[in-house]
Formats: sequence, structure tokens, C-alpha cells
Amino acid sequence: TRQFTRPLNDMANQWNTMLSAIAGAERVFEILDEEAEAKDEGTAAALSHVEGAVTFSNVSFSYIEGGETLKDISFEAKPGEMIALIGPTGAGKTTLIQLISRFYNPDKGKITIDGRDITSIRRESLRSHMTFVLQDSFLFEGTIRENIRYGRLNATDEEVEEAAKLANAHSFIIRLADGYNKRLQPGGSGISQGQKQLLVIARAILADPSILVLDEATSSIDTVTEIKIQEGLQRLMKGRTSFVIAHRLNTIRQADRILGLKEGRLLEQGSHDELLALGGFYSELYNGQLKRAGSSR
Ligand code: ADP
Repeated sequence: TRQFTRPLNDMANQWNTMLSAIAGAERVFEILDEEAEAKDEGTAAALSHVEGAVTFSNVSFSYIEGGETLKDISFEAKPGEMIALIGPTGAGKTTLIQLISRFYNPDKGKITIDGRDITSIRRESLRSHMTFVLQDSFLFEGTIRENIRYGRLNATDEEVEEAAKLANAHSFIIRLADGYNKRLQPGGSGISQGQKQLLVIARAILADPSILVLDEATSSIDTVTEIKIQEGLQRLMKGRTSFVIAHRLNTIRQADRILGLKEGRLLEQGSHDELLALGGFYSELYNGQLKRAGSSR
């Protein structure tokens, strides 16, 4: 059961911490305005280095009493692995990634990072090792350079451009009249949807986190930009533990492990080939929707 009220200034502080710790998580976390975040214990410690091993052991969680949103979830992500979360809307994918960043604590079970129970890690420290790349990630009113630098505030101009090159954003930026000094309007309007994504990828590369959370875009983007985004994401994910709320067959196929969620339960987990051989939830999804969607892209 969650706590629904708390002093306003506490909320404002948490909001600031959230914004500075995470580049662009507003969609995942907008619901938190009215709910209390998991509080740090007095003994919570900071983590200086994270390899990126993540485990869930028998994790259950409910937003409201009597209705479990996640039920007895167990899985393991080794450092650098890519985990695809799939399942229908409402299955619990977003809730699961919120638990990894300790917006809520599990009601039952345990989540560890590098073998450490995350309830013993300070939230701010935990989130400094994680970056979110979401469908409608947060771009603010300011220059393109400032928006990328938000990933790591002390980065030099050269580092900002290096990250933009890796993200495949550099070539479109230098073709703009003001280049890196182009000012974006609130929400990033003034550039295309695909270009926004390239900027958010550049920002994440600059942040250099051990753990990444990606919410794959469902909106249609032109093929050329889409290829650039995919390439940028590949470079971003390399060597980092990634959790991807995945919609595209190509992404799902590449995953080291697919977690198939439905109504808060982890129905099955394994690689694309393993799950196809199993002939269950994933293979039904694959044969029913993913294959068609995959071949049309
Ligand atoms: P998915 O990301 O797979 O679409 P979610 O994790 O967003 O699923 O939601 C899982 C379930 O939890 C849904 O039934 C949703 O309505 C419910 N839920 C999500 N957030 C809240 C909240 N803040 N309070 C109560 N219920 C919620």
C-alpha cells in the first residue's frame, strides 16, 4: 500500500533530484506526482561503480491493496546483456522498470544490482548509473548543445560532438543554420521526431551509464532516419545492461533474453529461438503479429 500525501516541498525536491539524475524520464514517472516514492533508509549507501548485473527474485508489487501488478517475477540480467520486455499494454513492463530505478520498493522479493539489494542503495546514486531513453524523452528550451550536454554537465564541446557523431546526430546538426547553437523550443519542437530521438541517444551516450532503459518508439519514422536511430542505439547499448520495452521484431530478435509479461506475470523467458521452440506466448505473438510487422518494415 502506497502513501498518497506528503509535504509539497518534499515533492518539489524529489522532482528536482529526479530531473537532474535522469535525462528524460517524464513519461515513465509522470504518474508519480501524486504518489510517494520509495524513501531511502538511513543506512542506504552510494555506489561508485556499477558492472550492471541485475536480478529480480520473486518480486511482487501492487499499487493498490488487493491488486498485484507484478506477481512473483524472477530473472537475471548479466552485465552488458540486452533484455527485451514484451507483452500487451497493462502487462506491467513500465512498472518493472520503475522498480529497477527504485521509484517503488517491491512488496515481496528482492531486486539486486551487482549482488546488492537495491533498497540498500541511495536512490540518487542508483539513478546516476542509469539512463532512460523514452519515446517522448525530455528536450528543453535551449540549444542543441545544451540539450546533449544535459547527459553529463561537465562534458567539453568536443565530447558533446563526439557523442553526437556516435549517435548519428552530428550530420543533421551541422546542416542546421545555427548548428549546435540552434535553439529548441520547449519539448524540442523545431526538429523532427526522429531527430529528437537522435539527440536523446547522443545525450545518453554522453551520460555513459552502466544500465539503460529504452522505450522503443512506436511512431513511424522515415526509413533513413530509422536506420540511423537503430545504428545509434546499437552503439549506445554496447557494453551496457539494457532493458528495452520492445515493439520491433528486429530489436526483440537481438535480445539476449526476452521477458514475456502478461497481467503482471512473467509467462516465459529466453532467446527468440528458445521461445519459438517452446511454442508458447511468444511464439503465438510472433506468428500472429510480430512476423507480419517485421516483414513490413
Ligand atoms: P505496461 O507498461 O506493460 O503497459 P504498466 O506497468 O504501465 O504496464 O501497468 C501495469 C498495470 O498497473 C496496469 O493495469 C495499470 O493500469 C496499473 N498501473 C500503472 N501505474 C499505476 C498507478 N500509478 N496506480 C495504479 N495502477 C497503476
